[in-house]
Amino acid sequence: MKHITHIIGGKPTTGSGSLVSPVFNPATGEQVADVTLASAEDVTTAVTNAKSAFESWASTPPAKRARVMFRLRDILEARADEVARTISAEHGKTHDDALGEVTRALEVVEYACGIPELLKGDFSRDVGPGIDCFSDRQPLGVVAGVTPFNFPAMVPLWMIPMAIACGNTFVLKPSERDPSSANLVHDLFAAAGLPDGVLNVVHGDKTAVDALLDHRDIQAVSFVGSTPVAEYIYARGTASGKRVQALGGAKNHMVILPDADLDQAADALMGAGFGSAGERCMAVSVAVPVGTETADKLVEKLAPQVRALKIGPSTDPDAEMGPVITRAAQTHIESLIAKGEQEGAKVVVDGRGYQLQGYEDGYWLGGTLLDDITPDMTVYREEIFGPVLSVLRADSYDQAVSLINDHEYGNGTALFTRDGDAARDFANRIQVGMVGVNVPIPVPVAYHSFGGWKRSIFGAHGIYGPEAIHFYTRLKTITSRWPTGIRAGAEFTFPSMG
Ligand code: NAD
Repeated sequence: MKHITHIIGGKPTTGSGSLVSPVFNPATGEQVADVTLASAEDVTTAVTNAKSAFESWASTPPAKRARVMFRLRDILEARADEVARTISAEHGKTHDDALGEVTRALEVVEYACGIPELLKGDFSRDVGPGIDCFSDRQPLGVVAGVTPFNFPAMVPLWMIPMAIACGNTFVLKPSERDPSSANLVHDLFAAAGLPDGVLNVVHGDKTAVDALLDHRDIQAVSFVGSTPVAEYIYARGTASGKRVQALGGAKNHMVILPDADLDQAADALMGAGFGSAGERCMAVSVAVPVGTETADKLVEKLAPQVRALKIGPSTDPDAEMGPVITRAAQTHIESLIAKGEQEGAKVVVDGRGYQLQGYEDGYWLGGTLLDDITPDMTVYREEIFGPVLSVLRADSYDQAVSLINDHEYGNGTALFTRDGDAARDFANRIQVGMVGVNVPIPVPVAYHSFGGWKRSIFGAHGIYGPEAIHFYTRLKTITSRWPTGIRAGAEFTFPSMG
């Protein structure tokens, strides 16, 4: 069986930790690997390696750092299929979906190729007699990333290219549920010529994460995962003086106004609700049709499509949706559907107990459609993170807006309409970080930044794009006087150039 190790200072190592965690193929339920879990000492070894690599990497000219990104870009494109297969083998998502993940990661690498331009500072000449002023953004040092299972290559690549292009060195702690992609990402960077120690991968659980959060040589932590863990990471990381960005969970609503193209809206809901088995932080999990007629027509269009979803392993080119990540996730999602039913939701299509011939031990769920849900129900309040689409019927547009604004999460949302006034009003009033108008999953492109509002994020910065430059660097402003011979005598008042 495959044994997945850490990669520290460019070398695979099992470290000193005695614990391992099993890794499964979710389509078959078979164990395909085990992964070493880091001890606190292993984390220290990784941080020490990253710290030793920092000085030389930070002083490497940005144009040379960019060349690594250009090479990585080409390697990632050439090996996209291999990366996608590695993702699917442990995550279970379809091959095309995994390829989509690689493409979005590639776009972040392409943005990082422009790092010399992005790091360019400001200069002001003659701010006083013989005095010039310039400001510059400098790297922080060693930074860490802690990432979730659902995008095992893309989320690490939201962070690493930007952090290291800025001149930092990096320690990644990926999800222990699908860890192989992180090691492959490391190998792609190595193939692109990244010096050893600039990127280190430690696998592990809470022990490893706590060791990173408490380590005095880690300057910043980027986290993506569930909200309770994000909140914990933010509190513990900032308590030890670190800069922290922690992106959490979501409950994304899509509002459908009576004037919307309902066929287009139903297609959008199918892809955004059931793609990747609903295991996306930008998945649409709540459809909010406005008015009874819109709701009835929408449910009528959705129900047969949900029943007809093509479910299969990633090796099936016709599959639209794969299994969920673990047996525990499958059981949890089924119990939430049951809870919804008990609390009064109408189960229009029931995905519980789904079986796929030849894959009886896999973690399967059929698509589930719930109607008549209300804001007090558990299925509405909690993130389900599975192939379950709930329909919450709103009487009016204003009620739909209030509903979204009152929800604890604020990651993504969408409005489907042909009414420009409504669309503009929605974009202005909605208390959510990423908004789509007739776009169901409005994940920003790599040259904008990604980030939710409310309890979908802790910390001031979004991830990748221009926000990443601010997060992974600190500002230095230098005021200098040349020539030195200008003598004004001692000045005891507060200096001004007037
Ligand atoms: P998770 O929070 O369980 O795990 C994320 C990471 O934190 C993993 O590396 C894990 O090992 C570590 N971790 C887990 N429990 C911990 C603890 N108690 N202390 C310290 N570290 C701990 O998340 P997941 O199940 O892997 O991923 C799914 C979640 O991630 C969903 O809630 C989803 O919405 C969210 N997510 C959010 C975004 C976003 O951009 N906002 C993107 C992707 C996923």
